[in-house]
Amino acid sequence: MNFTKTARKPALFSDKAYFFIFSDNNILVKEKSENLVSIPCIDKKSVAKIKVNEICFLGMVEKNCCYCAGVSQDRLPHQFKWINLRSLFGKIDNGFWSIAGYARQIYDWNMNFKFCGRCGAKTKKNKNEHARICPKCNLTSYPRISPAIITAVVKDNQILLARGIQFPNKKMFSVLAGFVEPGETLEECVKREIFEEVGIKVKNIHYFKSQSWPFPDSLMIGFTAAYESGEILIDTKEIAEAGWFKADNLPIIPGQQTLAGELIEWFVLNENEKLIFIK
Ligand SMILES: [Zn+2]
Repeated sequence: MNFTKTARKPALFSDKAYFFIFSDNNILVKEKSENLVSIPCIDKKSVAKIKVNEICFLGMVEKNCCYCAGVSQDRLPHQFKWINLRSLFGKIDNGFWSIAGYARQIYDWNMNFKFCGRCGAKTKKNKNEHARICPKCNLTSYPRISPAIITAVVKDNQILLARGIQFPNKKMFSVLAGFVEPGETLEECVKREIFEEVGIKVKNIHYFKSQSWPFPDSLMIGFTAAYESGEILIDTKEIAEAGWFKADNLPIIPGQQTLAGELIEWFVLNENEKLIFIK
């Protein structure tokens, strides 16, 4: 599956188009089987039946156009259903999961930037790129991305995990994360966030990998780091509990589709390799 991102509609395209349609935190899907769904690839007639609004062109999957949109009615045609965007992972091809995240961010940005933040006039969509321009004062706004660091801190054979106050699952622990502040490097952010949240100083910060996280507009930037000094002292406004965990004694952790899950898996694999080496 090949997705080309573009705001410009090409001259040639198929009758049917992929529609990424949102309502609250849900996306509209077509049921294929019990655990599999697909993004609706529909013609103009079917689009009219669903009564979509706020349509925005996103790009092409092969010869099919892709759009994001909202809806203005609750009743859906047969075979369609709503599914929470987070739970779409694993029920759909990974390529479509990633376009769905992109579509969500473009949809939200179009909805949230209808008016100029400087003078309050109604903004207009630019036809050539994803940008909204104010006709009165010329302020241009682009889709917003909020960078956030996420770090696996390791001390000897243990990883630092914490339970955030706002985690929906009250038993789940994860690696520490936080938003980058203006004027800060990513490494400075890693040091500040970990010290603020759990009172630990870290060193040897290394880039791991990144992940787009459309809830609502984050770019998660993953790092690994080593413990330098300090005792765990949690910031009770953000963290409910924190501790050092061995690879064979982990609490409930995020799934492997998340960067947090991948960082914890990296720690576990490293630990296992060391065990094999010692044997
Ligand atoms: Zn303006």
